[in-house]
Amino acid sequence: MSKAGRSQEETRRRNLGDLLRHVHLDGALSRSELADRMGLNRSTIMALTAELSAAGLVSEELPGDTGRAGRPSLVVRPERDRAHVLAFDVRVDHLVAARVALGGEILDRREAVRPRAGADLEDVVGVLAEFGRELRRGARPGSVCVGVGAAYCGMIRPDDGTVRYGPYMGWVDQAFGVELGARLGLPVLVGNEAHLGALAERDRGVGRGLDNLIYLHGDVGVGGGIIVGGKLLDGDGGYGCEVGHMVVNPYNGRPCMCGSRGCLEAEVGEHALIDAAGRSGELSGREGVRAVLEAAEAGDAAAVDALRRIGDWLGIGVANLINLFNPGMVIFGGMLRDVYPGSAAQVRRRVETHAMVISREQVRLRVSALGDDVTLVGAAELAFSRLLASPLEVLAEMRRRAAARRMASPRRALAL
Ligand SMILES: [Zn+2]
Repeated sequence: MSKAGRSQEETRRRNLGDLLRHVHLDGALSRSELADRMGLNRSTIMALTAELSAAGLVSEELPGDTGRAGRPSLVVRPERDRAHVLAFDVRVDHLVAARVALGGEILDRREAVRPRAGADLEDVVGVLAEFGRELRRGARPGSVCVGVGAAYCGMIRPDDGTVRYGPYMGWVDQAFGVELGARLGLPVLVGNEAHLGALAERDRGVGRGLDNLIYLHGDVGVGGGIIVGGKLLDGDGGYGCEVGHMVVNPYNGRPCMCGSRGCLEAEVGEHALIDAAGRSGELSGREGVRAVLEAAEAGDAAAVDALRRIGDWLGIGVANLINLFNPGMVIFGGMLRDVYPGSAAQVRRRVETHAMVISREQVRLRVSALGDDVTLVGAAELAFSRLLASPLEVLAEMRRRAAARRMASPRRALAL
């Protein structure tokens, strides 16, 4: 192919991906809306839509009564029954799996509670692979699995989904992505839970449309995802945004599992809250956090003080981040979504004291809109990323894989 031909082909592929992304994230859109958004003329939109429609990824229909005179623009919508992904979420206390339709609807899910200690790779992958098989068995005939994504609470090598460091499960250099992929017979993309949470809130949550935001995800520790100029800051090796280990209290700080002292996560994580409320040894986990919050709501003085203390340190961390990145929004997710409302006054006071006026004049502080599913939604979007970059090629590849699996295992064909 000539150079001009190649670049034309590249443009077509990018436009197909962009169009599919618009309807995947925003649902039904008219051809004229798509033309406006993408800066393309109506006949180009029509040609792109025809290709995606022939592949079964979108459908077109006449809109309902528009109330306007003249010929209405056809509406393009994602085909939710023809393409899906598998999304997995490995949290400290939970394993979650879901089948998610093109367009983002969670069609089916499985969940397992598990103990924190002693979960080895084999156990975790075994549970997730079984969930994956069940979810695929439930898919409509003709629906193609177009990708698999997983969120993990640790530091992940993007190339192969190796968990370099999963502090709260004791994992070091575990081949999670490769092992799960081998069990499922499909390639698996793995991302850090807070990175994926940031992208999910930007694409489907409270940060929709923002190019500069910071997402803080509380679990036992605190993870971060920082989006600057529309791009996640993932660093040189993919391990960026470890804001939980930003030191906020170096002199009298609590010891952190990373070996340092006074890190943000040591001062605002689950243990800090429960200890500050005087309930250590008695409470733990997300239920423990909720018990402290309920006690604070009921007026328990120690619980109220604990929330204030957490808000104080959280505010110092947030003020530093605002000075550094000038975000349009800071979003509190995971356990911090529960904690923030009761500590917002302290957070705001610290931000007003320590963040430069000009850096903070536009910032909004918000809780996650996606709730406990934020990291699962992020994993699903990671799974869709290949399809949205190159729709027809990836669809053809995944159809070939499904056909090969049917040939290899005819008895299980219906399950695939
Ligand atoms: Zn630390």
